[in-house]
Amino acid sequence: MTDLKTIAVLGAGTMGRGIAHVSALAGYVTHLFDTSADALKKAESGIHRNLAKGVELKKVAAEVAEAARQGLHLDTDLAAAVADADLVIEAVPESMALKIDTFQQVARSCPEHALFASNTSALSITEMAAGSGRPERFAGMHFFNPVHVMKLIELVRGLQTSEETLDAMRRVGVRMGKEVVLVNEAPGFVTSRINAMIGNEAFRMLQEGVASAEDIDKALKLGLNHPMGPFEMVDLVGLDVRLAILEFLHKSLGETFRPNQILVQHVRAGRLGRKTGRGVYTYDENGEKIAEKTK
Ligand code: NAD
Repeated sequence: MTDLKTIAVLGAGTMGRGIAHVSALAGYVTHLFDTSADALKKAESGIHRNLAKGVELKKVAAEVAEAARQGLHLDTDLAAAVADADLVIEAVPESMALKIDTFQQVARSCPEHALFASNTSALSITEMAAGSGRPERFAGMHFFNPVHVMKLIELVRGLQTSEETLDAMRRVGVRMGKEVVLVNEAPGFVTSRINAMIGNEAFRMLQEGVASAEDIDKALKLGLNHPMGPFEMVDLVGLDVRLAILEFLHKSLGETFRPNQILVQHVRAGRLGRKTGRGVYTYDENGEKIAEKTK
């Protein structure tokens, strides 16, 4: 396959906006689609802010940032967003039914040759690929948060993913400045499985009164050299996103992954992390932590 030129990113939340950022910065014509015009507006200003920061820190040349801004298109019309896409990367909420439905709609409007990738944290690529109607041209591209900073992509091979598809997606990842590891499909791949287990265990310790959230975070950072504590991490990821991952891992891998009750309660209360201003910790409008911890 010749080099890809146009990428459509579906979902402009935490991950979709980051993927659109690195796609536009890598020189791809990039269409970012969301059902919410408000999410698109926030995504655009977030991307512009991060590009400006990159220029200020001399990590990005001013003309490259400007070209990225010019190459980024926002769409609330799915058919328009995918009309010229060589690659469609999906970052809509973590639901198999929603993801399959989205890919089926995309398939009606995108070019026949377009490749499909899902940024799912844990769900089955093989099942999604089968539902999309183009299983050979489908794989997982699992990016990390924040996408413009984190170096890794887990490239996930489903049962029927072709080598050509993997090669093309690996090249895209490298052009975006990422390191790519190939993972055979397994629930949660490598990273989500381990991260979900550590995060869930941290909530269990909190419930048992082993230590405060702050001290558990500090212990993992200073004692185990983790760059972030598990509660800082879950606030960044989104507690709802983490709960969806754990529910899936619990179903597919067993009791080790049963979601802890405190996590479930936080999600029920709408404490979803940084994106809602409150998760395990509380944040002000600039994203600064303002309270020790919530109960
Ligand atoms: P999010 O809640 O921040 O954003 C989801 C976006 O999708 C919202 O803007 C919403 O308006 C939009 N949306 C909802 N329905 C849609 C539809 N039918 N079509 C288009 N857009 C739609 O979620 P997120 O954290 O960006 O997660 C997205 C995906 O990425 C999930 O599968 C998640 O598991 C995965 N993921 C998340 C992280 C993370 O750290 N948050 C990391 C890796 C992978």
